[in-house]
Amino acid sequence: MPLTIQQLFSWTIQLSAQQDYQALTHTFLAILDDMPGVDHASAYEMYEHERKNIGDTTTVHELLVRRFPLDFSRNDDENYNALFSKLNHTVDLHLSAVDEAGLYTWVIFSIRGGSGPERAIRIEGEFDPNRLNILDNLRLIYRNLVILHDTKERDVLTKLPNRQSLDVRLLQVCEHYRYIDNPEGESSWIAILDIDHFKRVNDDFGHLYGDEVLLTFSQLMGKCFRYNDFLFRFGGEEFVVILNLASQKMAMTIFNRFREAVANYHFPTVGRITVSIGLTRINGVSMPTTQLDCADKALYYAKENGRNQVILYENMIIPEQDNIANEIELF
Ligand code: GH3
Ligand code: MG
Ligand code: MG
Repeated sequence: MPLTIQQLFSWTIQLSAQQDYQALTHTFLAILDDMPGVDHASAYEMYEHERKNIGDTTTVHELLVRRFPLDFSRNDDENYNALFSKLNHTVDLHLSAVDEAGLYTWVIFSIRGGSGPERAIRIEGEFDPNRLNILDNLRLIYRNLVILHDTKERDVLTKLPNRQSLDVRLLQVCEHYRYIDNPEGESSWIAILDIDHFKRVNDDFGHLYGDEVLLTFSQLMGKCFRYNDFLFRFGGEEFVVILNLASQKMAMTIFNRFREAVANYHFPTVGRITVSIGLTRINGVSMPTTQLDCADKALYYAKENGRNQVILYENMIIPEQDNIANEIELF
């Protein structure tokens, strides 16, 4: 059955009506799944990752692949890395061999050009060259929209998702824990990271060097956190991390490790900087704004009590009269 012009218009209108990258990708996958000849479509994000074992001088470059929609509640068992690492990352179209009927059984499209990670769409089914051509044109529409959404949803300097993206993502994570709250086990944590005395960096070295520090800081975040954690630029010299699948002890260890990595890093020209971190557990009960507010209170405490430290909101004892913590249990 040939596709009609109306059908093609309808798809294009649906795709261009989506408000963000996630909604766009969901819609694109649904459209592909509905197409004649398509059995299944899935989307992936790929991250280049440098790994260095302790005491080892060689750096290993790994390709980490995560499946869309991003699932922060469990580790994915399927190993896509092997499949994707074999792809030639300079071409946009990867095709299976043709079967006896002369049809392709799978196709992988690379989606490049946005400021986010490299993405890929894998489609399984049976396609002749004509269908493949239609898929490729849809891919181009999707890619152009992804680039537009990246511009809106990511910060220009660090390329990290911005404040607006955080609001959407935090709401999703809070909703998730509304149903599976598990205070004793692994959960997600929201942390605000604020560079200490950053104004001095600007004052002493100028805004350009300040920007350079922010960029390097965001790259250190990319190296220290796992690819299934969500990183954001909150604004100015403040960043947010949603840490997933971690116990309280693990969360404290991970954030302290990052704090130390910053304190020990030699920033070109500027030298040493430190960071203060306030965090809280995402509990499935509080509103996203309340959770952010708790992380902010913990951060405030860290700033008031010497900076260069990690404070967990749950360990603060808040007096009834006001909301400023005056006692703290440190790890
Ligand atoms: P504290 O330890 O209390 O956090 O001190 P601070 O100096 O880091 O905090 P404050 O909030 O007083 O100053 C933040 C400074 O960050 C003010 C502003 O000049 C700088 N800043 C904000 N956004 C940017 C940016 O995009 N680039 C640069 N270079 N500086 C920025
Ligand atoms: Mg600040
Ligand atoms: Mg600061």
